[in-house]
Amino acid sequence: MQKDCAFQRCINPACAATFDILQALTACPSCGELLDVVYDWDRLPVPKSLSDFEKRWTSRTAPLDFSGVWRFRDLLPFASDEALVTVGEGQTVLYHNTTLAREVGLTGGRLHLQYVGFNPSGSFKDNGMAAGFTHARMVSAGRVACASTGNTSASLALYASVLGMQAVVFIGSGKIAYGKLAQALDSGALTLQIRGDFDDAMRLVQEAAAKLGLYVLNSVNPFRLEGQKTIMYRVLEALSWEAPDWVVVPGGNLGNSSAFGKAFMELRDLGLLKRLPRIAVINSTGARTLTALVGEKNLSWNSGAVDQDTVARYYAYLDENSIRAHTLATAIEINRPVNLRKCLRALDVTHGVVREVPDEDIIDAKALIARSGPGCEPASAASVAGVKLLVDEGVIAPDERVVAILTGNVLKDPDVPVKYNSLKGAELTKALGLFSTRPPRYQNLPIEVDADLGSIVNALEGGVS
Ligand SMILES: *Cc1c(COP(=O)(O)O)cnc(C)c1O
Ligand SMILES: [Zn+2]
Repeated sequence: MQKDCAFQRCINPACAATFDILQALTACPSCGELLDVVYDWDRLPVPKSLSDFEKRWTSRTAPLDFSGVWRFRDLLPFASDEALVTVGEGQTVLYHNTTLAREVGLTGGRLHLQYVGFNPSGSFKDNGMAAGFTHARMVSAGRVACASTGNTSASLALYASVLGMQAVVFIGSGKIAYGKLAQALDSGALTLQIRGDFDDAMRLVQEAAAKLGLYVLNSVNPFRLEGQKTIMYRVLEALSWEAPDWVVVPGGNLGNSSAFGKAFMELRDLGLLKRLPRIAVINSTGARTLTALVGEKNLSWNSGAVDQDTVARYYAYLDENSIRAHTLATAIEINRPVNLRKCLRALDVTHGVVREVPDEDIIDAKALIARSGPGCEPASAASVAGVKLLVDEGVIAPDERVVAILTGNVLKDPDVPVKYNSLKGAELTKALGLFSTRPPRYQNLPIEVDADLGSIVNALEGGVS
């Protein structure tokens, strides 16, 4: 990287204030909007073709070339090589899943699943943390902090432990999946269980950061999203640099969808990608702010002049009616997505769509995913449930090439599948906090047998229902 070739810029075109790369900011000090990391490509080497990145596979014993984030460092050149932080993130896999394609109505095996849960801490957040921690060190951050539904804290705690930094995580009490809480605690993060939900934790970490000078690593941190751009580079790489027709991703705080949109926008502007995929962002019906605002209130990027009144009115409506986010897909249980405006921009650039799927569809999709390959955590399965919905609606044509992003590892949240597969009727509805009594479609009930061979033979050869 050459000096001063990267800077931060307010995403509000009417402001567009710029800031030095060495400032630690989560919002524009002038107007309060989100910030982008932007590059002066006239003074930086532009990659000639995307396929050139494959050459780094041959030098993968070098940690930066092994990293699935930093292998693409020329596309996020805000730091010098010596400054880059890696724990081996970004070893994701794009599975071609013919069985599942058929189940969701796609012909000819047009469905690919991007397993981002195969990261060191088990979720896509590591892609962002590699870049975020690089910046945290560039600005000599002391304590790093985040609010989290679980995975951000697990990832933050891991990177902090490797780098010997102190991590502080703010967790909404009650709803965190055990695998994720276990990771934060095990890695030694100072863990604050807030008596409130994620939206409360998010507000508080920002207030505490302002007061105590904590370095915030939620997706309001523009550097984190730089790392998450690489999730799309790897999708393109796995498809021999041909864009799919659709990228379908669960939407929580909307960092991923925002990062994907930025990745595609930049590749297009650099002349490295001709045709952009369309992005579909999938909410759970229990945390449907994006669907409500875009699908019902027609909120859009509008060249940067986002209709703030519509957003404010919707949040006031949530508050007046004490509506809190509620979904078993805890990673997307968020009603005030911090990256809303960046996501609107991504939808604009990629002609994207938004949809919501009920928890019942999410857990059925989750079970189905695990029937034909590695599984995922509940929130991740919203993507596949979303693909099915969009195919049913005719928005995605059966012969289009679709990539669904599986954001987190199956082992993150064992509680949901155990309940899904062992409870029935009202008990199941209550245990999973479902809104309906619709029975699960792919339940696999365990069979209890006496500890003798006869009972086992009986169970395996029939006779037990
Ligand atoms: C964080 C997270 C999400 C939500 O992603 P956003 O970028 O906040 O929209 C979805 N799934 C999993 C598993 C996550 O950890
Ligand atoms: Zn601004």
